[in-house]
Amino acid sequence: MPSSLPLRIAIVGTGPSGFYAAEHLLKQAPNATVDLFDRLPTPYGLVRGGVAPDHQKIKSVTRVFERIAADPRVRFFGNVLIGQDLTRSDLRRHYHAFIYACGAQSDRSLGIPGEDLPGSHAATDFVGWYNGHPDYRDCRFDLGATSVAVIGMGNVAVDVVRILARTTEELAKTDIADYALDALRASAVRDIYMIGRRGPVQGAFTHPELRELGELVGADIHVRAEDLELDAGSAAQLALGEDKTAEKNLATLREFATRTPSGKPRTVHLRFLESPLRLDGAARVEQISLGRNRLVAGGNGDLRAESTGATELLPADLVFRSVGYLGTGIPGVPLDPKRGIIPNDEGRVLESGAVVPGEYAVGWIKRGPSGVIGTNKPDAVETADRLLEDAEAGRLNPADALALDAVDQLLRARGVRAVRWADWQRLDQLEQARGRAAGRPRIKVTEIDEMLQLSGVS
Ligand code: NAP
Repeated sequence: MPSSLPLRIAIVGTGPSGFYAAEHLLKQAPNATVDLFDRLPTPYGLVRGGVAPDHQKIKSVTRVFERIAADPRVRFFGNVLIGQDLTRSDLRRHYHAFIYACGAQSDRSLGIPGEDLPGSHAATDFVGWYNGHPDYRDCRFDLGATSVAVIGMGNVAVDVVRILARTTEELAKTDIADYALDALRASAVRDIYMIGRRGPVQGAFTHPELRELGELVGADIHVRAEDLELDAGSAAQLALGEDKTAEKNLATLREFATRTPSGKPRTVHLRFLESPLRLDGAARVEQISLGRNRLVAGGNGDLRAESTGATELLPADLVFRSVGYLGTGIPGVPLDPKRGIIPNDEGRVLESGAVVPGEYAVGWIKRGPSGVIGTNKPDAVETADRLLEDAEAGRLNPADALALDAVDQLLRARGVRAVRWADWQRLDQLEQARGRAAGRPRIKVTEIDEMLQLSGVS
């Protein structure tokens, strides 16, 4: 819905959903200004801190975001923590409306004994670590491990498996964090088990990601033929012909199952219909107890895993749980802790069931951690359209009294060293120049203080 109103909008978070929301608002409301806030000095959310370093092509979406940021109606404020440096009531005073685009910052746990043993980690910590995210740069993973288990069959699990399986030569061409490259260079990992509680038809990975596991230079792929024997429910689901991804995945898995090991230094084992029951070890994780499952009809038409009672022990000295991200929200803002989202109706924030004027949600904090980068575009359009409808109906905050630069002044008065877009560009160019010199896309700066210094803020 177009609007000619002079709107002031803030977006909290600069991942894909935040940028796509800004793009739509700027298109539809020529007199709008958009302030983008990020708690890190760097923009792009999971595109910088989540997308795997060996998937550089996916990261080229930042060119779209750069064009959006170059619009004179857009301002960037990095290194600003909403909820602390600026509160919800500050945003209400300064903006007609604001949009939470803060993603899902934590992970789901398995809830099994031994999960907290040393050597057992959230996959999301490993992802943040190898991507040079400042929050995770000090994590330590024992890559002296020879047998690694990754629990979950989603694309994050695939990323983790692939990064563990890649050769140093492959990783050295990427923008993986330097310290991660050094640690992975010394890796002793031989066997990587990716473990799914349901069957091959229910894998949450997309087909290109699965296929890539069969094309690794330094790792063979191993799939047990018996894991691919379909139960009646899965066969019926496939026979509908509606799930092309599942069909392609199954065909690829069947091809994997025919392969004989070619003697590569590592092996990726895909295991289906197994749930982790417990992790055991004296001082750290040594093995994982797996329960065999069968599929039964679930309440919502889905097939769910049910234990057959059979168990198996798998030696594993490093375990990553990769069973989904979880949104933790922003202090003082409503949160549905179970779903990890800000309660909302098509993006309008709800508090005790009622719409909160002028507050919106977009992306993973709106719908949960699902979909690929492009999924955020229609999601952002929906939220932005609701905002513009509310603007036209006079339902936003009355924020006209303060000057546009009042936020800058407030941040300065509070001693917040905000990183503006030109500052980020300085850091960006420096990272890329360092990368070029080493034949890599970029060499990331991973410490906040160093980021601030190199971007010219401190
Ligand atoms: P996901 O796609 O939701 O996968 C989660 C996996 O964990 C599923 O296999 C799920 O199995 C399993 N799981 C959940 N609870 C479990 C439990 N208690 N025990 C055992 N297994 C359990 O989540 P994700 O991998 O974190 O990815 C998040 C989103 O980012 C996805 O939409 C993904 O496609 C996207 N992403 C995309 C890319 C890419 O495009 N290359 C890369 C990374 C991430 P069930 O199916 O049985 O629940």
